[in-house]
Amino acid sequence: MTVQLLPVEPLGIGSSEIESISSFFVRLSVVNGASPKKILEWIGKKNGISELVPSIASSAPINLVRPTKLNAKFLSALSQSTGVDVNILGRMTYHSLDLVVNRHQGCFDKRFRWCPACIYETANMNHPTHFRLYWSLTGFNNCPIHHTPLQTRCPVCGSYQDSWRNRDALDVCVSCGTTLGYSYLHPELITAAGMVSQQAPEAPDLILLTKFISEGNSHALKPDGPRKALYEAFDYAWNRNEELEYFKKLPRDECLAYLHCNKPITITTARRLAFRTGVPLVDLLCGSTKECTRELDANWRDELPDSLKPQKRKPYIDVEHAQEAIKQALKDPQRPSLRDFSQQIGISTGGLSYYFYDQCTLISKRYKQRLVEEKMEKKDAAAKAVRDAIFQWQKERIDPPSHKGLLKLLFPSSGLPKHVLRATIARSLDVKTKV
Ligand SMILES: [Zn+2]
Ligand SMILES: [Zn+2]
Repeated sequence: MTVQLLPVEPLGIGSSEIESISSFFVRLSVVNGASPKKILEWIGKKNGISELVPSIASSAPINLVRPTKLNAKFLSALSQSTGVDVNILGRMTYHSLDLVVNRHQGCFDKRFRWCPACIYETANMNHPTHFRLYWSLTGFNNCPIHHTPLQTRCPVCGSYQDSWRNRDALDVCVSCGTTLGYSYLHPELITAAGMVSQQAPEAPDLILLTKFISEGNSHALKPDGPRKALYEAFDYAWNRNEELEYFKKLPRDECLAYLHCNKPITITTARRLAFRTGVPLVDLLCGSTKECTRELDANWRDELPDSLKPQKRKPYIDVEHAQEAIKQALKDPQRPSLRDFSQQIGISTGGLSYYFYDQCTLISKRYKQRLVEEKMEKKDAAAKAVRDAIFQWQKERIDPPSHKGLLKLLFPSSGLPKHVLRATIARSLDVKTKV
């Protein structure tokens, strides 16, 4: 291994066709004549992060595009060792999304994927092959340019390309050396994971988002962006008396939970909300709706694309019915929890909080008070039961009352929880022995 790494130029910077950090890293390893694993270990040693290397190497190289703390550390080490600005490296990832979206399950494919047509074309034009960053997103099943299904296995030997092993080039199979563009000439070898669409690209919003990141605009992403953008969109609908209709079309529960309960938002939710509110995804994530016309009609009455459809739909809120039920709940001496109440009337807590914020706070308050009172009552009841039991014991037996004996006596008959009894018995007997 050399002392310094031979440099590699990041490809596609500033365009939506930007390469993924994983692609860059594999090319780096090819140029330096060592396996990606070896390069990883070397970088780890050079930058004092050797202890992180096993964790990184335990998943496929494609996972480097995902926003995680581990990947962020790796990125700065990679920057140190290659001399490529960490901000440039960051553009080859979706790390910056971590600012806005909190969960990423299901957003990223766990394997290296590629479009055989793209690979074939770049090779034919004598351009260096690179794996596009957006191929890592599950939002795509097909290449947006060629509509070819993205591939995960070598067309000849069937190997996945996720290895950290040595390879001769990025565009050839890590096991058998076949060019990954081979199936372009033999379409019968192409395996289709999802539906092959010959029309519009599947996820134009994700392409624009990728371009946005690729251009180095990530600093404009705002942690509170979607919330701000949604409030603006709601106000707009409210003013046009379209609020209810709006809700019928929105992923209501997700949306309300996000707005009112500080639930984290996923990229998929953000996409659904963007689609329904007519606010472009990038604008939604940046919290700016100023640029867009918010002409909702064109978009939000349309059917959601399949990939964005929520798993299940719940019935819509019947506001009048809910209002009456809330009145009753606030009078109910049982003082139910908001959760129990929400289950009882079949409306999510997020939905309830949106329409009846103050009342819901009151319901929760009443429930908390109930819990406090119940605790006090149990404590009093336990104290009395233990006192009586000790009195009875001392009348009937000559041995001193024991913790175990008292518990055995009281637990089945008193109807009080064991831990309360135990604590009370301990207190009573300790006081007695001290006296
Ligand atoms: Zn393609
Ligand atoms: Zn192969």
